[in-house]
Amino acid sequence: MPNKVLVLNTGGTIAMSVDASEAVKPLDDQAVINILPFLEQYADVTMKNVFQLPSPHITPSHMNELRIRIESELEQDRYAGLVITHGTDTLEETAYFLDLTLSLSIPVVITGAMRSSNELGADGPVNLISSVRTAADPGSKGRGVLVVFNDEIHAAAHVTKTHTSNVATFQSPEFGPIGTVSKKGIHYHYAPVKREHYEIETADANVPLVKAVAGMDPAWLQFLLEQPIDGLVVEAFGLGNLPPAILPTLQQLLDKNIPIVLVSRCYNGQVQDIYDYEGGGRQLKKRGIIFCNGLNGPKARLKLIVALQQTNDVKKLQALFEAM
Ligand code: ASP
Repeated sequence: MPNKVLVLNTGGTIAMSVDASEAVKPLDDQAVINILPFLEQYADVTMKNVFQLPSPHITPSHMNELRIRIESELEQDRYAGLVITHGTDTLEETAYFLDLTLSLSIPVVITGAMRSSNELGADGPVNLISSVRTAADPGSKGRGVLVVFNDEIHAAAHVTKTHTSNVATFQSPEFGPIGTVSKKGIHYHYAPVKREHYEIETADANVPLVKAVAGMDPAWLQFLLEQPIDGLVVEAFGLGNLPPAILPTLQQLLDKNIPIVLVSRCYNGQVQDIYDYEGGGRQLKKRGIIFCNGLNGPKARLKLIVALQQTNDVKKLQALFEAM
């Protein structure tokens, strides 16, 4: 008896088609449902449409709505695994949000496509087949939310979209894939060692993300002092350093008890309080800026949104970020 797998569709290129003018547009709900007959030899699949959205339209509220829908589907029926189809542009964000907030004993896999459903060499069907096989495999349990794409299995915290159009776009630059999908099976090479879980009800914190650039004008940030923001994430240079010109504005935000989380704009390595010049990491840390390792800017933002549902105390937030 094949394992039962639930597939929830949210939209994206996997559910789109290209027309004669090369415009790619959302299709009707049928696009992914058409793949269903190819899945049946691997699992007993139930497929439902949750959203029909291009992923640039997805917000943290949609991610939370998806979490609630998943929990209610799994209360109503028993499944061996869950697959979500999603647009690739923000796929890593939804994957990481669900990784932080879902507490499930079954495998959860998220996938999509770089080529639309009627394009030659469409990758949606094979990605969905690999995802259903991965979700139905008991070896996929306890590894957090997985991103399956182009025969590779990636951990939600580490994976990122690296190419605008190539089907091998999803990579985990620092750590590589945690597993691979072959014709004969699902193979894991290692398990993510650090896992976190947050119980949340909503995801409604207002957290902008700002990238540091050379010669940054503080005026680009000053308007944030007037905005109802709950936190700020900054992608800093290298080891975690910032242009001195923006420090007074950051200090004003800190004085208003707005937590500031710092990641690096490099996609490999750690942020550390090493450099002791104006704007250097050592001085930023002394001011109370929270250093976050292992996440890119968009994911650090989601973690801050989720963590803010538990506390807005800067010391407690610091512990949540710096323990990881
Ligand atoms: N723009 C599309 C989306 O994210 C890209 C994709 O799905 O591959 O919805």
